[in-house]
Amino acid sequence: MHHLHPALIGTYETVLRRNAGEVEFHQAVLEVLESLHAVVEKRPEYVEASIIERICEPERQIIFRVPWVDDQGVVQINRGFRVNFNSALGPYKGGLRFHPSVYLGIIKFLGFEQTFKNALTGMPIGGGKGGSDFDPKGRSDAEIMRFCQSFMTELYRHIGEYTDVPAGDIGVGGREIGYLFGQYKRITNAYEAGVLTGKGLTWGGSQARKEATGYGTVYFVKEMLDAHGEGFDGRRVVVSGSGNVAIYAVEKAQEFGATVVAVSDSNGYVVDEGGIDLDLVKQIKEVQRGRISEYAVARTSARHIAGGSIWDVPCDVALPCATENELSAEGAAALVKGGVKYVGEGANMPTTPDGIRVLHEAGVHYAPGKAVNAGGVATSALEMQQNASRDSWSFDYTDQRLHKIMKGIHDNCLETADEFGQPGDYVAGANIAGFIQVADAMLALGVI
Ligand code: NDP
Repeated sequence: MHHLHPALIGTYETVLRRNAGEVEFHQAVLEVLESLHAVVEKRPEYVEASIIERICEPERQIIFRVPWVDDQGVVQINRGFRVNFNSALGPYKGGLRFHPSVYLGIIKFLGFEQTFKNALTGMPIGGGKGGSDFDPKGRSDAEIMRFCQSFMTELYRHIGEYTDVPAGDIGVGGREIGYLFGQYKRITNAYEAGVLTGKGLTWGGSQARKEATGYGTVYFVKEMLDAHGEGFDGRRVVVSGSGNVAIYAVEKAQEFGATVVAVSDSNGYVVDEGGIDLDLVKQIKEVQRGRISEYAVARTSARHIAGGSIWDVPCDVALPCATENELSAEGAAALVKGGVKYVGEGANMPTTPDGIRVLHEAGVHYAPGKAVNAGGVATSALEMQQNASRDSWSFDYTDQRLHKIMKGIHDNCLETADEFGQPGDYVAGANIAGFIQVADAMLALGVI
């Protein structure tokens, strides 16, 4: 059952037909279209110029073969993707994901979300996303390097500082960006630093980029708390995942005085009632590339629950920072039972539509990933600015800009929600504000 404006039903049906079986993409599109009721009423020109239908169709979709040789000498074949979703506001911008679950539907949902998220940052960047069904787990450094080199040997012809600028996502961090950038530089014989973001600090990277998505998530949620006269100090916080976004969300929440009691990975979660020891998590995840269960081996105060749901842990603030659809209606009900008051999405689309409904009905303040986690890509745009001007800024300056951008996005969401008659609704605010920015640019650029 959907709640679409009658003028949008045909558009949604076209999306379903054109993208058969791509359920994550359908889900992401429906969420945005459902937010546009009041927009269609107030601004019929978007429907008349078929802007909404056009915005749902990627400008270009690239699929390619990625052959590589593993450590045993066996030839492996993966599939690579890059979806150029929308370039009305700037070059395509969005991460690369390496995970066995990757297929076109996931890349498209991410690219679609990215388009509105990037608009919300106020920076001149369009939306795109890419990746591969390659599984980095258990692979040696040499295998990761050979895979990245093969991936870039095809991708390089499609990207560029003014065309498309990839970055990291699940399974793609500093190590992978290094191998990708090295191969790009070798093939093109040019030091085009602005072609990728998330680079290392000695070769064109930006201070605070590694921390930006997690820090930005907590900056956004701090604004949500402030708006209700509350703060992070003394709050119980649960953060799912233990990757890049989760680690730096934990770091900033702890800095603001919260007690983070649980983190997870795809095998289970750990609870440490006295507060998660983040140095230990970093050692296990960033250095050893190990499993979160090792935390409970090293810390007797903690317990590891294999396969369970982290949302069973009572908390005031929940930050889903792992992956899409990780917080279902059941998980949301458990959170509500545990007393949750705020949910801010560090991951992309981690809460299912039913989960969102449960949170809304319980009066939980809930904000979606495309607003909350936009600090990552915003800081990537700051990295591009530094590359373009051959400059490098201090950590504090970059972090202050990030903080300001997150406050701006938060306020824009609330003001837009108010303006369109849905006060306090961060989903409506984020979707409408992002949409209008892109739609107005598309109108101005004509039918292209
Ligand atoms: P990482 O690869 O660094 O970490 C991902 C974490 O999520 C790991 O703990 C991983 O566990 C867990 N995870 C991944 N897939 C699953 C799954 N299917 N089920 C359960 N747990 C899972 O990725 P990031 O931290 O970069 O990304 C996390 C989320 O944030 C994603 O939704 C991403 O799209 C989003 N995001 C990332 C940005 C960035 O700058 N990196 C920017 C904006 C959004 P395990 O190790 O067991 O796989």
